[in-house]
Amino acid sequence: MDLFSEMTGHDFGEVHLRRDAASGLSAIVAIHDTRLGPSLGGCRCIEYAHESDAIRDALRLARGMTYKAALCGVPHGGGKSVIMRPKNAAFDRSALFRAFGRFVDDLGGRYITAEDSGTGLEDMEVIRSVTRHVTGIDQRHGGSGDPSPFTALGVRRGIEASVRFALGKASLDGVVVAVQGIGHVGYHLCKEVAAQGAQLVVADVDPLKAERAQREFGARVVALDEIFEVACDVFAPCALGSALNDHTIPRLKCKIVAGAANNQLAETRHGEDLRQRGIAYAPDYAINAGGLINVAAEVSGYDENIVRERTMRIYDTILEILQRAARAETTTARIADAMVEERLSSVEASAPLVRAANAANDAR
Ligand code: NAD
Repeated sequence: MDLFSEMTGHDFGEVHLRRDAASGLSAIVAIHDTRLGPSLGGCRCIEYAHESDAIRDALRLARGMTYKAALCGVPHGGGKSVIMRPKNAAFDRSALFRAFGRFVDDLGGRYITAEDSGTGLEDMEVIRSVTRHVTGIDQRHGGSGDPSPFTALGVRRGIEASVRFALGKASLDGVVVAVQGIGHVGYHLCKEVAAQGAQLVVADVDPLKAERAQREFGARVVALDEIFEVACDVFAPCALGSALNDHTIPRLKCKIVAGAANNQLAETRHGEDLRQRGIAYAPDYAINAGGLINVAAEVSGYDENIVRERTMRIYDTILEILQRAARAETTTARIADAMVEERLSSVEASAPLVRAANAANDAR
């Protein structure tokens, strides 16, 4: 892998590597942008076939965090870390995360870590024993807890804005929402929209999760593949990425796509396919930012009311994106990216801002 070319391709930034022989740690911290503040983003700990896959993952995800943070207005840049999970099953997990915590600490607050795939609350507690630059910690220690309810609240607000824009309705009463994936976010989203009078159609690979939505919210359960073609107002992808692709888009019978999943468009061109079909698409990183707003609040001193109020504003962001895209006759994804770039380019110099944000972080 040609690292500098790869960094150029992802518009970077800085990349830090750490190997710790004693614990078996091989880790990457990718810092994409710090113009709005210290970089913030989760730590992945999964197995990778090749080092290049791990580096690419870190670069891609860190860049995505810059965009998500800038659009939802949290004072952070984009960062992400990857620990290459040791293939030896008997590794000492605490030693691994302590070594990783020291790595984060050595970066002096330029990168703040959090949970991601393959890491959890206990790992964050271990990291916390060696550095302050960690979020997503236990609520008993002033942490923010599970982000999913806030992600779901933000998605509900994004759905409301989309319904106002595409259907001209001021409420979700009687609106049919098809939710793919009733996991952490999907479950809370069902609860949120059902409370506003929406009717639900759901699908999940785990039948117990779909049945729970049926039992608690009166949802109609459909087969996994059927969820793409149910007659509905809103299709809400809340499972894996790439739900919107060449096979699924032609089958959609909705007016709106608005859900929590990351990377919903298999390729950028699928945003244009949705537009051509007259489907309003709420860009994923704009609508699913509630969890980030929640975790970022730990850095400045957690206040649930402020988090709720900021997450509610996702309504305004989604409405603005939809309106601007309609006026410019372009995709909502392009407009969201342009809004981020406007915000980033309006920040003149990175260093003083980062110092100020780091000082606030140090003062915690
Ligand atoms: P989760 O693992 O708890 O839930 C995913 C659910 O999707 C599971 O119930 C799983 O059984 C189901 N599923 C998997 N494949 C499916 C398929 N083909 N059809 C139907 N159901 C399927 O994950 P989550 O935390 O709820 O996150 C959901 C999505 O939202 C992910 O893409 C995640 O990256 C994104 N996201 C989550 C948060 C958060 O706060 N948790 C924040 C931002 C974005």
